[in-house]
Amino acid sequence: DLKTRVSVESKDEIGSLAKAINYLAVELDKYQTNRRQFFANISHELRTPLTYLGGYIKAIQQGLYQSDKERDQYLFIIENETERMTQLVNDLFELSKMEEGKLEFHFEDIDLCEVVQSSIEKTKLKSKEKGIEIFLKGDTNLPLANLDGLRTEQIVINLLENAIRYTEKGAITVRLWSERQKIKLSIEDTGLGIPEEDLPYLFERFYRVEKSRSRETGGTGLGLSIVKSLVVLQQGEIQVKSEVGKGTSFILSFPVVDYSQED
Ligand code: ADP
Repeated sequence: DLKTRVSVESKDEIGSLAKAINYLAVELDKYQTNRRQFFANISHELRTPLTYLGGYIKAIQQGLYQSDKERDQYLFIIENETERMTQLVNDLFELSKMEEGKLEFHFEDIDLCEVVQSSIEKTKLKSKEKGIEIFLKGDTNLPLANLDGLRTEQIVINLLENAIRYTEKGAITVRLWSERQKIKLSIEDTGLGIPEEDLPYLFERFYRVEKSRSRETGGTGLGLSIVKSLVVLQQGEIQVKSEVGKGTSFILSFPVVDYSQED
């Protein structure tokens, strides 16, 4: 159902030109569909919390609650939804900066183990609340990697928060090791797991396994797409392995600093 289509099939220059135009038309069409979908998603994601906010604020104003406890529950929902919207707006801002290539990185030779330790420290409160322990297992004396420390911490924190969010009970294990000029890091949980058919789409914006799963647990659906971009922009790779009911592990890989190339 493309609007533009040049139907020249000859094998000469005009034929090749027609082919190129048709190719561009298909790409443009894909891009536009993608864009439309993106805006539809944003509108939906913002409308839902706004509906909650409006409803509960009205309920409090009109005294539509049976007890102080119920009113406090409404306030709690208002607080949660406000947090979710703030997170969404922050994530969108981050994504737009990334797309424009405006996200700045301050590359330094860093020890990934330190980044992991501080990330664990920062997510400790959340994991404690759920009774989930985080273990760090790794080689000491790992080679350094040339990364932005804060951005890398953002990646690790995001993966840890997901692991906590989608785990009911059990533990999270972070492993660090080096392998063939790469530093590797895995974050394994014993949580819900992800069905195999969802895995190829997991890093797409707004993609969620079971639409309701992350509404209840408070995600924006943008976390992993941001994580993936931050990894790729730092010459890294990310993989995921998962088994429903058993757990999920995300594996990151970054090149080690190559001192032979320095003066
Ligand atoms: P969200 O903000 O919804 O968590 P993400 O982009 O971070 O969005 O993750 C996308 C989806 O992938 C989530 O909605 C969730 O269904 C699934 N997911 C992410 N991490 C895990 C995990 N550790 N265990 C199980 N499912 C996960």
